[in-house]
Amino acid sequence: MSAAASLVEVGACVKLNDVVKRYDTSDGEVLALGPVSFDLRRGEFLSVVGPSGCGKSTLLTLLSGLAEPTEGSVAVDGRELRGPNRECGIAFQSPVLLEWRTALDNVLLQFEMRGMDRETYRQQAIDLLRSLGLEGAERRYPRELSGGMRQRVSIARALIHDPPLLLLDEPFSAVDALTRDQLVADLQRVWLEHDDLTVLFITHHIEEAVFLGDRVLVMTPRPGRISELIDIDIPRPRRIHDRDLKGHGDYSRRIRDLFVQSGVFREGAR
Ligand code: ADP
Repeated sequence: MSAAASLVEVGACVKLNDVVKRYDTSDGEVLALGPVSFDLRRGEFLSVVGPSGCGKSTLLTLLSGLAEPTEGSVAVDGRELRGPNRECGIAFQSPVLLEWRTALDNVLLQFEMRGMDRETYRQQAIDLLRSLGLEGAERRYPRELSGGMRQRVSIARALIHDPPLLLLDEPFSAVDALTRDQLVADLQRVWLEHDDLTVLFITHHIEEAVFLGDRVLVMTPRPGRISELIDIDIPRPRRIHDRDLKGHGDYSRRIRDLFVQSGVFREGAR
């Protein structure tokens, strides 16, 4: 089998092999991540949950191709990733919108950056903003939008070019709890509407990871490794109401137990 063929696995769109990431800092070398090996299956929703500083954002940066692993490899569709992964959309904790552009123009920026004719995609962008609950807000500027609405624009911009892979880094952490619940439910719906969209969703929020994930990758403290990859066997569509039900709670408890075992939580600590 050739080296390239060995990277291909049926159903896997992204494959990480013994990935390690170290950073050089003024205090010396920091081992941020790994070794980590896992597959991202085509069309799955993978939640990643772990404590601050365990390398979650580093993992996302490696999948986006904006950084390279120090050791090991990241393969996308059977090819080792070298340089930016143009086949993905990314949304971060901060929506990073251009203040002088309307919501619609912020979304269309995706095409301008790719040298494509934005006008061809105008209606598609309006439709996507509507499906994300922003009907009527297309011509508003970021300062005229709430935090949750700005985050919706950011997700629309990440999705508008129909990427096969969506990378989300704590996209809801800066919004209030009720808005967050709604955003999570809307994200599930949008993902269900997009055939074969693979999502890697980074969060600190255990219940949110369970609610959204087909699987939850639980990470250890730094250097982040896989504590466990848990299959979430709960039918879809999942409903906000059901988050309190036993099935959800059992998975959340299991993840909390793992965090107790790895020292993330210390019961009774002062
Ligand atoms: P998380 O997203 O889980 O909070 P990060 O991936 O941001 O974790 O960071 C993991 C570790 O790597 C942290 O100790 C962080 O300080 C360090 N780190 C992240 N990015 C860099 C960088 N560009 N240069 C140096 N150290 C970094």
